[in-house]
Amino acid sequence: MEPVPFVDLRAQQATIATEVRAAIDAVLDRCDFVLGQDVREFEAAFARYIGVEHAIGVSNGLDALRLALLACEIGPGDEVIVPANTYIATALAVSSVGARPVLVDCEPETYNLDARLVEAALTPHTRAIIPVHLTGRAVAMAPILAIAEAAGLAVIEDAAQAHGAEDAGRRCGAIGTIGCFSFYPSKNLGAYGDGGAVTTNDPALAERVRLIRDNGQRAKYVHAVQGLNARLDTLQAAVLRVKLPRLDAWNQARARHAARYRALLRDLGDLQLPAAGVWPEHVYHLFIVETEARDALQAHLSEQGIQTGIHYPVPIHLQEAYRALGYAPGDFPAAERAARRMLSLPMFPEMCDAQIERTAAAIRQFFSGDRAPGAASAPAEAGLKVGAR
Ligand SMILES: *Cc1c(COP(=O)(O)O)cnc(C)c1O
Repeated sequence: MEPVPFVDLRAQQATIATEVRAAIDAVLDRCDFVLGQDVREFEAAFARYIGVEHAIGVSNGLDALRLALLACEIGPGDEVIVPANTYIATALAVSSVGARPVLVDCEPETYNLDARLVEAALTPHTRAIIPVHLTGRAVAMAPILAIAEAAGLAVIEDAAQAHGAEDAGRRCGAIGTIGCFSFYPSKNLGAYGDGGAVTTNDPALAERVRLIRDNGQRAKYVHAVQGLNARLDTLQAAVLRVKLPRLDAWNQARARHAARYRALLRDLGDLQLPAAGVWPEHVYHLFIVETEARDALQAHLSEQGIQTGIHYPVPIHLQEAYRALGYAPGDFPAAERAARRMLSLPMFPEMCDAQIERTAAAIRQFFSGDRAPGAASAPAEAGLKVGAR
């Protein structure tokens, strides 16, 4: 049987190949490789799409977050609230500017920062909160904005998985003080290499991000601040300009696939489906299920050629890189439980019904116990193991 990939970039490229080649050829004809015409035009189009005054194209998602922190003048001695369950880049951005990531546990149902736990983590050194719209589900921002306003904190949205997602009618990246995006190839809006963007309605912050991304340069060889080289490539901007008009349709396709998975995966053993979330509140960067038999289920799917992922197997506080923060196992129980149980199923806009049905059939087969001899431990056994913990 045909394998089912976790993400299939070639399937998407096939639908836009002619336009992408023409866009790349136009850059080759102009040779405006650095901060060229397509960068300006993509920035304008992306700002309109997100619903902000300013979008600044940058080198990648990590740099988008670093630039946002630097523009907010956050650095040594400052603390920034970061969810315990996120991609490492959210924390790396904070520590790379010399500030301290202060971790807060996630909501078990959405994997997003648990706003109820934020206040207890604030200190006189706290300068910002970074809500991450993880898996493509928009964070319910109202309580976070209220806490930030009361304490005078910046809200830096990590929207790297949530291009086009909305909370209460506003697009992610347009809700807080400043928004950060990654265009890593497999994101909902992906470049053909690295890329990122920073979005904001604040003209002063936008100006600082523009300066810092280009060596702190105000005019050629006139340097206003100590900057970085963190620019979006013109070739990447050209690809992104072709893709942006298709983003809503791709996100809607993801949401349709999610609905299909839900219908096919009801009432199977201890399998937990993602909490309800409809487009555009959820743009399904990931479709995550949970079970105590996660590792056995992943092995079973892998044997059948179905590729899955785990986002993320080790929460930030248990990463060796962050040992110095002094956290211990048990500090963030929701993130730790999710790390043990989560499995991300194949999800990309071009998925066909047969791929979804094959994946669902293999999962149903796993939970019916109707598996080949020698397959890994059954859910019932996994349940016993957990009971004995
Ligand atoms: C992908 C991602 C980033 C980092 O983006 P890069 O472009 O890979 O640097 C940051 N935060 C989250 C939540 C991400 O998923």
